[in-house]
Amino acid sequence: MRSLVLAVFFIHSLLAFEYNLKPQKISNEVYCFFGLPQVIDTHNNGNMVNSCFVDMGERYLVIDSGPTYAYAKEAYSKIKDIKDQPIAYVINTHVHDDHWLGNSYYKELGVDIIGSVKFKNEAKLQMTRMQRRITKEAYEKTTQVFPNVFVDKEKTLTINAHKVFIKSVNKKAHTSSDLLIHIPDLSALFVGDIVFNDRIPSLRDGNIDEWIKELEKIKTYNAKYIIGGHGERVDAHSVDFTYDYLIELKEKVSSAIEDGIEIEDAIKTITMDRYKDTHMYGELQRQNVETAYRTLEWEQ
Ligand SMILES: [Zn+2]
Repeated sequence: MRSLVLAVFFIHSLLAFEYNLKPQKISNEVYCFFGLPQVIDTHNNGNMVNSCFVDMGERYLVIDSGPTYAYAKEAYSKIKDIKDQPIAYVINTHVHDDHWLGNSYYKELGVDIIGSVKFKNEAKLQMTRMQRRITKEAYEKTTQVFPNVFVDKEKTLTINAHKVFIKSVNKKAHTSSDLLIHIPDLSALFVGDIVFNDRIPSLRDGNIDEWIKELEKIKTYNAKYIIGGHGERVDAHSVDFTYDYLIELKEKVSSAIEDGIEIEDAIKTITMDRYKDTHMYGELQRQNVETAYRTLEWEQ
């Protein structure tokens, strides 16, 4: 019996951590893995972010590499079950670590990784946010691999006859490092965390005004698929949720400032009832009010 228990332990230690990822088909060319609408914890192990694969013909373009080495490895293996072909590039939509720690796997494959030039200002951390919040098993083999190809303003790729236009937002919207990836042939626009669905967006590193302006620009692309960094809605109206939330937040915070309400009271009293049952309202609403207040108070 004892040797059986030991054998089970031994076999278990040989098996790599698995997320049980399932690719969702968006169009003939685009498949995405959708993360859960949750904060990072030891149950989801960082599977709370989107990662997409675009079939460019003979190669894939990967948009965001996910939260860990294990995640990236599993995602690519699931995609290879659909069609086995190499990866042309990985693009990181911004510097938040749930979107790019999977780079450590793609680097092993020798794939070029593209990201904002702002990555150059990022310091490697002793421990990443992901590392602090998920299990050791899930984080295993994950290292901080930054992009090796940088986008300052814009960059155009041609992959198997498809043009890919990468554009830096170049202003602080969700972060200072946001990239948009437009593939007109496929009517697909990848916008990273400029678009959230199914959960409250995080404004912490952003600017509410620039973010709203960027959402308005995104609508003018008239893309059939607008694919964000969190949430499963990917049609032309996927922007509406984030847009409506930020507009209402801005209105409420601006009128509190006009009424002379101090920041501490604004944080305590500004609620947005129609989002109360939306995932992560409890975790993010107060913080979003605070960030919006600090930005908007300078404008009045
Ligand atoms: Zn983010």
